[in-house]
Amino acid sequence: DASVEKHEFKAETKKLLHIVAHSLYSQREVFVRELISNSSDALEKLRHLQATSQDVNTDASLEVSISVDEDAKTITFCDSGIGMTADELKDNLGTIARSGSKAYIEKMKDGAETKDMANTIVGQFGVGFYSAFMVGDKIAVYTRSATPGSAGYCWESDGLGSYTLSKAEDIPVGTKIVISVKDDAKEFLEDGKLKEVIKKYSNFVGFPISVNGEKVNTVEALWTKDKNSITDEDHTNFFQFVSQTLDNPMYHLVYKADGPISIRSILYAPTRNPEAAGFERVKPGVSLYSRKVLIMPNAPGLLPEWLRFVQGVVDSEDLPLNLSRELLQNGPVIMRLKSIITSRIIKWLQEEAKRDAKKYDEFYKTFGSFFKEGTCQDAANQKEISKLLRFETSSKEAGQLISLDEYVERMPSDQEHIYYFCTPNRTVGTESPYYEPFKQHGAEVLFLHHALDEFVMARLLEFKGKRLVSVDSKEASSVLEKWNKAAQAESPESTGTALTTEQANELTAWLLTNMGPSIKEVKVAERYMTYPAIVTDFESPAVRKMMKMMAGDSE
Ligand code: ADP
Ligand code: MG
Repeated sequence: DASVEKHEFKAETKKLLHIVAHSLYSQREVFVRELISNSSDALEKLRHLQATSQDVNTDASLEVSISVDEDAKTITFCDSGIGMTADELKDNLGTIARSGSKAYIEKMKDGAETKDMANTIVGQFGVGFYSAFMVGDKIAVYTRSATPGSAGYCWESDGLGSYTLSKAEDIPVGTKIVISVKDDAKEFLEDGKLKEVIKKYSNFVGFPISVNGEKVNTVEALWTKDKNSITDEDHTNFFQFVSQTLDNPMYHLVYKADGPISIRSILYAPTRNPEAAGFERVKPGVSLYSRKVLIMPNAPGLLPEWLRFVQGVVDSEDLPLNLSRELLQNGPVIMRLKSIITSRIIKWLQEEAKRDAKKYDEFYKTFGSFFKEGTCQDAANQKEISKLLRFETSSKEAGQLISLDEYVERMPSDQEHIYYFCTPNRTVGTESPYYEPFKQHGAEVLFLHHALDEFVMARLLEFKGKRLVSVDSKEASSVLEKWNKAAQAESPESTGTALTTEQANELTAWLLTNMGPSIKEVKVAERYMTYPAIVTDFESPAVRKMMKMMAGDSE
């Protein structure tokens, strides 16, 4: 037949298809989620065109219908979405859309496909449309674009090396995918199995999904419901749906506002931090809707970067449906929305910390670095974010955390500063001569061991009017001198130093001659210590570190 075009898959697509064929049986069910997710995207796109009164050649009801033919051994996924033109078919179903998968496959050597790789790629990045080849040995896609004047087409492949493309008559607008099921995947020919998988992964898809004519999912926008009517189970399911993970939500927030901007939203803090495992940087996780119409999935710019771990949905009818990328970045409504929601998220987490400090500490151990990032980058919210920070402290066991609020609350009234000490670990901190006088004086010192802590302190400078002072800084030295003078006034015989004046002068002279330019001044300190000498620094630790970095000196 001359009207049938044959096309080869690209090299990386062939590799992916090979991997898909090797994937574990237990993972194969995700093809249902992938195909439904594509249908849902196509329906969202069509609904968006209709909502913005653009010209489309369909008025069919928006839905996904799945049917099983046990005799023919086929499963058919049919949607009344936006469909595809011939060019779109070639572009979309001939190449790999997932950037994560693509990068992973490109890195792989030829012939190196293993079961482990199959697991990684299917589980971590997803394989989208191609997942249909996990259960099917032949896939036929019938589709017609909603663009007026478009013809129908049929795309067919056995997933080995090539596909065919031909014109097809009497195709309604939308997409129909017919999977010829492999012998070892017959379980999916039972509608009970299909329904179970749909409930598991696709329950919150915003369009009706039916299997053999029976509706399966809960079509409701959870974020428009009254918060007291939403169960914990709803939240877990919805969180897993929006995050596309099997993680559980740590906290949830159902937030509604009517003025100045209308907001209906559900937001989640996850339990697991994917960045902690060393995987790639998390993408924004909150999608934007307007009156239940999706206008931007995983909207960049809706939240500040440091809140990228938050998942959920924000719906505002004040948003224009035609939201361009530029408008998303600096449109006035978005800017307002961003500021309102960011403040609300910070307040929410502060409330959760108050409600259950222990739970929050656990959460903080996993997600604390995001708050540190926020303290450094989000100047407008810095003050409020700093209340979310937690630190180890000299007054508690290692591993126990306190907030800056807690520190300030129990500060003696004559203590002027908040003291901290950045060390690689706790022992270095507690055994250090810098810490000793603070310990003797009974002043609480925060022990900081995280790489970002020094920068956080340098950015923050103060908390509730109290300066943050490092125990090895010049500022700390003058505090110690003050303490010493006061102590001496009380008991004059404690001179603080074990040397006679003569010995002290001799040592001073020796140090100045022998240590040369690396010494700025030598002082006979009037402080009592078990250490004979101590190096104090002129610059703050952060400045020192920066100068070191600029000088290319890596320790
Ligand atoms: P992704 O969904 O991540 O883009 P997929 O492999 O799942 O990757 O799908 C590739 C592309 O094929 C989609 O982006 C979309 O353009 C197109 N596509 C897939 N299924 C459909 C469908 N049911 N209706 C319209 N377009 C579709
Ligand atoms: Mg997809």
